[in-house]
Amino acid sequence: MELPVEEWRLCAARRWAALEPALRERLAAASLHDTLRLGCGLLRPEAEAPALRRLCRRARAGKEPAAARFYREEGNRSFGRRRYAAAARLYSQAASHELPGSPEVSVCFANRSAALFHLGHFEVCLEDIARAESHGYPDRLLPKVLLRKAECLLCLGRLQDAADALSVVESKIAVAGIMTSPAHQTLLKKLSQLKIKIQEKESCPEPARETCGDIQRKSEFWEENDSISGASSSLRLNFDTERGRHLVASQDILPGQSLLEEEAFVSVLCPGDSLLLQDSAEAVWDTRVTNADLYCHHCLRQLLASVPCQGCSYAKYCSQSCADVAWQQYHRTECSLGALLLTLGVFCHVALRTVLLAGFAEVSRLVEWSHNGDRDLQDPEARCKHLSEAPETRAGTRGIPGCNDDGQYQSSYQAVFNLLPHAEKHSPEHKFLCMLSVVAICQQLQEAGLEAAVLNQESSERRSKPKTCEKTSGELSPEMKTMAEAMLRHVLQLQCNAQAITVMQESESGDGAVVNKKPVRLATAFFPVLSLLNHSCCPNTSVSFSGTTATVRASQPIPSGQEIFHCYGPHRCRMRVAERQQLLSQYFFECRCGACRDELESDVKSVVSLRNTFSCPGCRAPMQGEDMLCCSNEACAISVSRQSLSCRLQDLQQRIKRALELLRDRKADQAIKMLLKCQVDAECFLSPEHLLMGELEDHLAQVYATLGKWQEAARHLERSIEIVEMHHGPSSIEIGHELFKLAQILFNGFAVSEALSTIQRAEEILSVHCGPQSPQIQELQEMKTCLSELPRSILQRT
Ligand SMILES: [Zn+2]
Ligand SMILES: [Zn+2]
Ligand SMILES: [Zn+2]
Ligand SMILES: [Zn+2]
Repeated sequence: MELPVEEWRLCAARRWAALEPALRERLAAASLHDTLRLGCGLLRPEAEAPALRRLCRRARAGKEPAAARFYREEGNRSFGRRRYAAAARLYSQAASHELPGSPEVSVCFANRSAALFHLGHFEVCLEDIARAESHGYPDRLLPKVLLRKAECLLCLGRLQDAADALSVVESKIAVAGIMTSPAHQTLLKKLSQLKIKIQEKESCPEPARETCGDIQRKSEFWEENDSISGASSSLRLNFDTERGRHLVASQDILPGQSLLEEEAFVSVLCPGDSLLLQDSAEAVWDTRVTNADLYCHHCLRQLLASVPCQGCSYAKYCSQSCADVAWQQYHRTECSLGALLLTLGVFCHVALRTVLLAGFAEVSRLVEWSHNGDRDLQDPEARCKHLSEAPETRAGTRGIPGCNDDGQYQSSYQAVFNLLPHAEKHSPEHKFLCMLSVVAICQQLQEAGLEAAVLNQESSERRSKPKTCEKTSGELSPEMKTMAEAMLRHVLQLQCNAQAITVMQESESGDGAVVNKKPVRLATAFFPVLSLLNHSCCPNTSVSFSGTTATVRASQPIPSGQEIFHCYGPHRCRMRVAERQQLLSQYFFECRCGACRDELESDVKSVVSLRNTFSCPGCRAPMQGEDMLCCSNEACAISVSRQSLSCRLQDLQQRIKRALELLRDRKADQAIKMLLKCQVDAECFLSPEHLLMGELEDHLAQVYATLGKWQEAARHLERSIEIVEMHHGPSSIEIGHELFKLAQILFNGFAVSEALSTIQRAEEILSVHCGPQSPQIQELQEMKTCLSELPRSILQRT
């Protein structure tokens, strides 16, 4: 997903292998500038370019009328089955394939408004009706939609507006003349019913409801750092040869204290497991949803009624204003390249968007500066010496890469540009693949006549008369080469500096009142300030995201002088040290954090190796050994190969997956049977503390919750919590999420006092990791309010 599709990687590898050895050597040692100069012509118009074009045909990013028809019909089918959420999503898909302003797209919006009405999203429903009208919804169908509008307004308590809408309907009907079709009769009946409802409401107005969305909570106390934008004043930027740039506590920090708040410099939505990239002879559309259908491609907010891009079927936005901003800032250039960008992967896409956001002037200034400064950059020790001589004032940060002349470090293009590309550490083949991909993007931009847009040289005259491509040879202009060089730098930087934006996504499983949420990767971004934090497998912070904003909080007390760490992924609670080191090698460093030192240098075992063990299939005593495992009970003496136990574990995981699919298909009873069987089997060879045992309990809790069996659900979840606590510790975010689920189950089961105490615990933990404003905390507070408003009679019974 991040890298180009496999076929293109192989194509580039073949090209690399076929190069003259001398050229390969020169490329391997070349600077970024020389790599591009040497490599520009290596994407041959008769070989690699057409191969890439063929691959792009599989990624469908254009508008296809046949797809629109397919999705509209699927939407109608879901609507007929009263699956309104699915219907709304399918109508969105259909709308994204229709031409803007066509009667067909207006029908999609109108149909979607009906689904939204049934879901109770009245405001959004009104927006869709307005959209249908503005895209030329057929006049003869309009009365029905306008009635829906009146009904929405009525539900929202806007009586006058509702009455006005009704009189518009009446006049439309009057103009159309008297018709006697059954549909027309229904319409008239509905009209008169609505009129009566409005009169009723007018005669006895309901007390004005408070709009709770408007209450803005006070923002957290925050004192910003003088020299680092978005950072708390309790941090200091340091630099040394061993650790590079890093942040240190300049005073004692408490758990939950907010340390950084940064808006991504650039972010690109990850398409998700795109099934569209599979080879298939005929057109196959899929009703499954991916990230690309669920989140705004600009601000990453969850989509309810998406606004499709006018040019492609891929980009979807939460609002017209996001669509407009995205178009203005980058999408007008990216739009026609959709398929290519999907084929080349998210890193290339982020690289392109980064240079588009920075603008040609800034890009070329920094690229030129990097040519002059190449010698300086290669001598970090000299710079470091200079730094250590400087007093610990703001001037001390002046020479740190990425800081401006005033010694300030800001979330700017300059800071992004200064993130380390590690050009010399990447394999020459990988650099070659990245170079070829970047050149392919730049060539296509030129061929599409978008060069002026890329270089911000559009004049109004040029815009009206699009400049056709003069250079058909595929040779890049000098300006485009500068852009390509910066893009190559960014692709390489991303390997170490890409920050995943994750959210807790509700998993699609039945209609249970308890929502099972799991973290998913939503987007890939550059956060130049967040990138100042080094990795540790036992970090002292937690990162949470809201839209494109990242917030870093202390997850434990941090004494003054201690370095602030962030975990890049491999956490000591989830992986053994060898696995962690393996994963971290992509960042070109060997982790020497406390946990790694303990596990490598002394005999301290990781939680994973202590808990995730096998037990004897005969007597259930712990098994010992490496490849051949022996029962630790001498009287038993059973021995089994690790291989066979691992196979058994995999088989078990497959069966659990199938059970969850049953749950998704609303076959809860079968799912329970299967999970209970899995549990019995697991007990035969997994240690009782194995994380999978906890997961099984968690799944069982979920199934019982969908059946409304709250007590059983709570019992299973409590056991899951015990195991999660052994692995992650009592104040970990994982425990926070589990307690959140338990609180929902107890709440639904009216176990009032237990619910209240669980809410309390969940709130304490989650506010440390995610802050007091996070959606989960707000949900917990709503539950608390609701419980405290219950009549005393119920409270006393529990
Ligand atoms: Zn948006
Ligand atoms: Zn587009
Ligand atoms: Zn480590
Ligand atoms: Zn045994």
